[in-house]
Amino acid sequence: MDLEAKSREVLARFTEEGHVRQSLEGRKYLTPFVVGLLVECAGKENIFTSGPELEKHSADHSHHLPCLPEAVIYPRSTEMVSEVMKICHRQRVPVTPCGARTGLEGGCIPLGGVSLDLSKMNQVLKLHREELQVHVQAGIKKEMLNDYLEPQGLFFQVDPASNPSLGGMAACGSSGTLCCNYGTMKENVVSLTVVLADGTVISTRRGVRKNSTGYDLTHLCMGQEGTLAVIAELVVKVTPLPKGESSLQVAFRSLQDCSRAVLRLREARLGLSRCELLNRQSVESLNAMSAGKPLEVVPTLFLQVHAISEEAAAQEVASAQGIVAECGGEGFVVATGKEDQKALWDLRRAAYYACQKNRQHMVHYGAKDIRMLSTDVCVPLGNFPRLIEETEQDYAATARATKVPLLCNIFGHAADGNFHCVVLYDHDNVRDREVLEALDRRMWSRCLALGGSVSGEHGCGMGKVPALQAEWGAEAIALMWRLKKCLDEQEILNPGKLLPARGRSPTKTSVHVVELPKLVRRSRKDHFATAGFKPLHTFLQAEPSKEALLA
Ligand SMILES: Cc1cc2nc3c(=O)[nH]c(=O)nc-3n(C[C@H](O)[C@H](O)[C@H](O)COP(=O)(O)OP(=O)(O)OC[C@H]3O[C@@H](n4cnc5c(N)ncnc54)[C@H](O)[C@@H]3O)c2cc1C
Repeated sequence: MDLEAKSREVLARFTEEGHVRQSLEGRKYLTPFVVGLLVECAGKENIFTSGPELEKHSADHSHHLPCLPEAVIYPRSTEMVSEVMKICHRQRVPVTPCGARTGLEGGCIPLGGVSLDLSKMNQVLKLHREELQVHVQAGIKKEMLNDYLEPQGLFFQVDPASNPSLGGMAACGSSGTLCCNYGTMKENVVSLTVVLADGTVISTRRGVRKNSTGYDLTHLCMGQEGTLAVIAELVVKVTPLPKGESSLQVAFRSLQDCSRAVLRLREARLGLSRCELLNRQSVESLNAMSAGKPLEVVPTLFLQVHAISEEAAAQEVASAQGIVAECGGEGFVVATGKEDQKALWDLRRAAYYACQKNRQHMVHYGAKDIRMLSTDVCVPLGNFPRLIEETEQDYAATARATKVPLLCNIFGHAADGNFHCVVLYDHDNVRDREVLEALDRRMWSRCLALGGSVSGEHGCGMGKVPALQAEWGAEAIALMWRLKKCLDEQEILNPGKLLPARGRSPTKTSVHVVELPKLVRRSRKDHFATAGFKPLHTFLQAEPSKEALLA
């Protein structure tokens, strides 16, 4: 299917589901008159209405089908964003902001209208050294900011494994591998300059460390995925580079042991800066990709401490080693030098792309349109191993029963109870798609029943919308819609994303939560014993009963 045809399919689906306010078939939002107005305000060199730029902006890193915008605009300043928004507001043209397009939920895939690409607004505006804050434009990427900060002895402490824009990170409420010590974007943004749907520019807070006046507009504009406002500038916290850092790689016989070690490490309050878990399949994929010495194919933890000196870091790592050894950790690899640590963490960062190594497997199977589904669930830490285990079991049992090749790569930010399940599939094969979708939804249901959230850091985009009502409840969704209407009356900002279509009751494809049996502890020590109940998926229904829905 060509790109035009795929775009029509996507638009038709979103229109039918009530996300897009009118059918776009045969009708464009951008008339030559509106294009003329936009060219006048943005300049000919910053606007594209045909060619490869449209294609480039039709997709992100997710598995979702692409959809072409009608125009791509590269604003160069906050004022230019404001002028573009004023025109689009008056002409009711949808606007989908985008940064580096590394999103994994289709959040920046435009459903027609304008793709507003902030990547050329990528300047550091001012470093406030004494405040440990930096003022930047939203399109600056994480690595570019760190290249600027490093010579000043500083770094930006939110570290996704990708290289996204700071605006995109704030819009998604991103985090990453450094979260256990430094927090997520939500803890590290001081203030934002945002442009509202009608072009109004506001600053959400002054650059002070504390503030208790007015509503918290900063947090309202975070995690909103471009549906409430365009983030044009940010003031974020930065941190002095650690004087000492040391890393540790540990192998475990079981996920239970691995997870127990994570809980013990957290309790010990070590200066743990990174704590990442990989399941067996992920280790196998990494081995297939890496030219180095292969890792033992068992659940593995990668740890790092940041400390005030090299000695302190070495001491903390030794303490960590003692704790994980008590929990069954073995095969320790300690990395202290810069190069060794870089190699270790580059390996962890490669976990996502290593899954592509399973491609050959899919080619043998006869797959035609190989896509990679990447999920992102977060549960209270005590339920983390249970969710991973049940997910692995469900994948293995489903693969056996359906003969669909489903290699379940799980890796994640263990200390936050957040993991990703990454799997290749054949998008052309309707049955395979349905099998995978059902698996994914069972994982969401399980996660929600265990008190979790269907996204810890990737956001909702277009992928998680069916689960939002089950996670938040109808009243909270109604409030979100009221906020949306208040800020974006014409619903031009990123339509079809984050919020379920208004006035629709949960559909057949929505996720419903069914209560799960309680965890049974075998003993005080066996924190995660799950004996005494059937596999969780036997409790999860594809179609809920009327009673479950009413409850
Ligand atoms: C290999 C890989 C590893 C990853 N690892 C992590 C990880 O460890 N942690 C993590 O949190 N994420 C991770 N991600 C996901 C992704 O990098 C994040 O979601 C990131 O925040 C997206 O930023 P972006 O600039 O690429 O945004 P885009 O993909 O361009 O957009 C994402 C969403 O934000 C909105 N948006 C973008 N810019 C703005 C703006 N200026 N104003 C308003 N809305 C805006 C878009 O409309 C869209 O809804 C990973 C992705 C990949 C491919």
